[in-house]
Amino acid sequence: MSAPLIACHECDLLQREVALPRGGVARCARCGAELYRSHPHGMERTLALTAGAIVLFVLANSFPIIGLQLEGQTIQTTLYNTVRTLWDEDMKSVAVLVFVTTIAMPALQLSALAYLLFPLRLGRVPAHFSAVFRVLQTVRPWGMVEVFMLGVLVSLVKLAHLAGIVPGVALWSFAALMLVMAGIGAVFDARGLWARASRLQGAAP
Ligand SMILES: [Zn+2]
Repeated sequence: MSAPLIACHECDLLQREVALPRGGVARCARCGAELYRSHPHGMERTLALTAGAIVLFVLANSFPIIGLQLEGQTIQTTLYNTVRTLWDEDMKSVAVLVFVTTIAMPALQLSALAYLLFPLRLGRVPAHFSAVFRVLQTVRPWGMVEVFMLGVLVSLVKLAHLAGIVPGVALWSFAALMLVMAGIGAVFDARGLWARASRLQGAAP
């Protein structure tokens, strides 16, 4: 059996796939673009980071993001309450945008990752593997926790001279979530995941 063909995503040159050494990178023979790379323990690392990200995501959505101290009173708010307030204050498009990019999409991405990775790690291919995989690839660019963090930091600086700011547990959780999500992006190995699933499917009777 000959090796499968792969097309360069930069210049379309068709070439045969080769097995890579640990940590190696395959480059296009014509233009040098990176075709794929070997991710040692890519799946285990992604799984560990996903488990951590789920815990951080739950914390980030259960605790207050910030508290404002004004005239002896402290007002605290969670992310979900912020979205509701925006909605009630007739800033519905902003409310939808914040909800989609910081709650819905990260939740969908983490659920899809957990749904695909946990069974695969245990040697089973989950039902609807390719459909869930496509959902994962579609939602990945829409999670914008880092943009949200930037927005929060800018507003905190602006608010700092009006009221006392008390950073909440959720703010730290969001900061950590941002780093862990970036880590998932770096170690996630789509090719390795497919290869594992097709090996398991091939081995099934
Ligand atoms: Zn090329």
